[in-house]
Formats: sequence, C-alpha cells, structure tokens
Amino acid sequence: MAMQFDGKRALVTGAGKGFGRAIAKKLAECGAETFALSRTQADLDSLKLEVPTINILNVDLLDWDKTREEVSKIGHIDLLVNNAGVSKKSSFINTPKENIDMMFDVNFKGTFNVSQVIAKKMIDSGKGGSIVNLSSTMSEKALANGCVYSTTKSAVDMLTKCMALELGPHNIRVNAINPTVVWTDLTLQYKDELMPLLALTPMGRFPEIEDVVNAVVFLLSDQSGMISGECLRLDGGLGVH
Ligand code: NDP
Repeated sequence: MAMQFDGKRALVTGAGKGFGRAIAKKLAECGAETFALSRTQADLDSLKLEVPTINILNVDLLDWDKTREEVSKIGHIDLLVNNAGVSKKSSFINTPKENIDMMFDVNFKGTFNVSQVIAKKMIDSGKGGSIVNLSSTMSEKALANGCVYSTTKSAVDMLTKCMALELGPHNIRVNAINPTVVWTDLTLQYKDELMPLLALTPMGRFPEIEDVVNAVVFLLSDQSGMISGECLRLDGGLGVH
C-alpha cells in the first residue's frame, strides 16, 4: 500500500547519500514536507535538483551546539529519521581515541541531540510523532575490527527503548531499524570483510536500499501505530544464528 504523509513534516539526517537520500526522496514523494540534513553541500544541491520540493540543511552533527541551533529553526516535525552514521574499522587493540569519539559523536550523540530538540517540539505541540533510528544488525553481532561501530549501534538500540519509554506518554513512538549489509559508500569500502555474512544469511541475499526505505516508512506511518521501542532486524534471517 502506498503511504501518504500529506500534511506531515519530516526530517532525515545523513540525507546526502545512501539510505538517507532514498528515505528523504520517498517521504517527499509520499507528500511530506521534507527536510534533508547532511554535511556535503554538493550532495544536498544534487538532491534539491532531483526533488525541488525538498528543503536542504547543511549541518555537521559533530558540532553539538550548531546542530541544536539549526534543527531548532525548522519548526515542528512529525516524522524524524536519525540516519546519519559513520564507520571506521580497526582492531580493538589499535583503535585510537579519535575514532571512538568520531563514531560515538555521530552515531550515538548525533541521534541523541537531534531527537532531544525534535521530541521537545513534539511534546510542546501536543501532536506526538514518530521517530526511527538507523541502528544495525551489528548492534548484536561482534565482527572483527568493528567493536566501536557495533557498540555505538548497541547504544542506539538502548536509546531507542529509553526514548520509547519516556516519550510514549506524549504519543511519540520510537523504533529502530537494524539492517544487515546493504551496498552503499559506507559498506563498499569493507566488501571483503562483509561478504562472508552472505553465507550465514538464510535468504541468501543482502537487502537493497529500497528494503530499508520500506521498513522506515512503515515504522513512521500509522500502519505501525502500536509499535514502539522495537529494534527491527532487516537481515534476511541472519539474526537467527
Ligand atoms: P552512507 O555513508 O552512504 O551515507 C551516510 C550519510 O550520512 C552521508 O550523507 C553522510 O554525509 C552523512 N553524515 C555522516 N556523518 C555526518 C555528520 N557528521 N553530519 C551530517 N551528516 C553526516 O551510509 P549508509 O546510507 O550506508 O548508512 C546510513 C545509516 O544506516 C548509518 O547510520 C549506518 O550506520 C546505518 N547502516 C548501514 C548499513 C549498510 O549496510 N549500509 C547497515 C546497517 C546500518 P557525508 O558523506 O558528507 O559525510
């Protein structure tokens, strides 16, 4: 069923590339007034050329205060997708502090920061809303050289549950999507390390970006009206192991 988001206002972080770009385009196509946040201007410009109705915002989530300032200016948001994420692989022993800070600052603190600003507006307006966080199948699986990334996503899972608990009384639902490998700029750089996961996947294939978009749109919509605090695996069955 085609989802309709007419009259809704949506914000997608990390909307310059990959999942975020596809999610922002889908939300605009479904009628939402859509705000696409990312940090590379060329990506935002090309998105705006493709979908002129989309509003673009150049914000680096690494800057906590500036992010709050810029996100505050948007006004009320009904649908929030915390999608921006980064991954830099290294062994536990050799991981430098900068990598830990960078991944926690974007994947966890970026999600926390934007959600805090938007959820406050959702509460104040009394209109409620729906928030989807991009987690990962790696939040539950230890993969060599992925300890920081996985830990940030475990933190996103728990944040999702804590937010669902505290925001539920305000009619705000909060869920996470936990995809396995989908080929984007983020994962193509680690193709050799990630390919072995295919053999462990009962369905014998990795998801496409469209599979992620469909799941996000479902969790944003009223079709999932009683689902909150869920971390939904999107992994062709990989998680059964
Ligand atoms: P991409 O690398 O393709 O896109 C990530 C987007 O986030 C880019 O537009 C990037 O902008 C933006 N971004 C990164 N850091 C910041 C920042 N500090 N401020 C603002 N924007 C930022 O990633 P994917 O689409 O593959 O991944 C999207 C999300 O899904 C991430 O959270 C990822 O962890 C998660 N995920 C991805 C999986 C996959 O297999 N691809 C599997 C499971 C989860 P720029 O390029 O300018 O840095």
